[in-house]
Amino acid sequence: TAAVTITTDTVLPQRRKRFAGNLKLSYRRPITLLRGYKQFLFDQDGRTYLDGYNNVPHVGHCHPRIVAAAERQNRLLNTNTRYLHPAQVEYADALTSRLPDELSVCFFVNSGSEANELALRLARAHTGAVDTIAMDSGYHGNTNTAIDISPYKFNGPGGRGAPDWVDVVPVADPYRGPYKGSDPEAGRKYADHVRAAVERIQARNRRVAAFICEIFPSVGGQIIPPPDYYRQAYSAIRSVGGVCIADEVQTGLGRIGTHQWGFETQGVVPDIVVLGKPMGNGHPIGAVVTTPAIAASFANGMEFFSTFGGSTLACVIGREVLRVVDEEALQEQALDVGTFMLDGLRELQKEHAVIGDVRGSGLFIGVELIKDHDTLEPAQRQASYIVNRLREHRILIGTDGPLDNVLKIRPPLCFTREDASHLLGRLATVLREEPCRM
Ligand code: PMP
Repeated sequence: TAAVTITTDTVLPQRRKRFAGNLKLSYRRPITLLRGYKQFLFDQDGRTYLDGYNNVPHVGHCHPRIVAAAERQNRLLNTNTRYLHPAQVEYADALTSRLPDELSVCFFVNSGSEANELALRLARAHTGAVDTIAMDSGYHGNTNTAIDISPYKFNGPGGRGAPDWVDVVPVADPYRGPYKGSDPEAGRKYADHVRAAVERIQARNRRVAAFICEIFPSVGGQIIPPPDYYRQAYSAIRSVGGVCIADEVQTGLGRIGTHQWGFETQGVVPDIVVLGKPMGNGHPIGAVVTTPAIAASFANGMEFFSTFGGSTLACVIGREVLRVVDEEALQEQALDVGTFMLDGLRELQKEHAVIGDVRGSGLFIGVELIKDHDTLEPAQRQASYIVNRLREHRILIGTDGPLDNVLKIRPPLCFTREDASHLLGRLATVLREEPCRM
């Protein structure tokens, strides 16, 4: 067969023809990627890119141990949860052993969206209620109900606003939100909005099923909520019999460095934890972990089944991801490299007025760009310029936040200090370029 030359120019027109317009491409000059290894990606010409962006390849792109485990299992068996297999219970044991004791029952699905769908079903079954409180700018997935609880979608382009069973509370954002990080009462003040949402629901003569949010809002701009927010918000929900759902899709499995899960940083234990993205290092795995009491309410006679969820292959891969996280001490690495990167970014902040805020934990990092330190006017154009320029330097990061002015850095956890230095050096170069000056 004749060799086909793969170029962006050949793939791009085909893609436009075969896919709908709402499929988004990164970069003004899109990249075609053909290989990955750990924190590196390679394009069609073999050029290397440093991946500072992708959190799905948690332990690294094409990690040899994950590839080997998948290959071995693919040769043996890949079937579903209606048959017994030790891999399923081993994976569930390994996962729950990393969570508080109360969270002991697992459901395996195929994506974060599915996991959030299921989490809502569990909450409704347990409470007999439907009304749900969600955090502004949140994202929980692409299915009908996941969109219904995702203000990022229903208040964004093409959205139709909040459904009548959803109440939105402000993002607990200590930088741009109404209560600043300097206010020791900020956590309580944001939680007061959750109390107010509970009262609105009661005023409609309805009851609260759930409070759901990304523990550290990611699409919302890599936000770290102020201390004590969740303790107070959860207590407001529980006092009326509601269920607290923590979407840890972006934050789980050690990314934040100091802890394995975001909720631990606030000293709370959710009733339902939703997991996704990093679990399978690219293999589609999502999970819901909950208490025996909530699981019992859900077991009402209707079978729960997911054809691929909890497959032998998924469980073997998921188990191996957890082993690699531990054996390569990746949570510790996330803390070390993330702290190093945050320090470097704070140094850059001193020199560049466009950097309004540097925040994060471990390798979950946001850099908010602004044009004015009093009004916090967002510097969207600069954010887009930087991301596209770093792409020319063959470093991948992204932008996010409701104003699209937050640089988003969340690489595979095998990212090193050397990689961080390289990223910081190139970022410093780009920040000195004319479009970033203020
Ligand atoms: N929750 C959060 C916090 C997410 O970031 C995402 C995906 N970006 C999802 C849920 C949905 O996951 P998936 O795309 O796997 O369905």
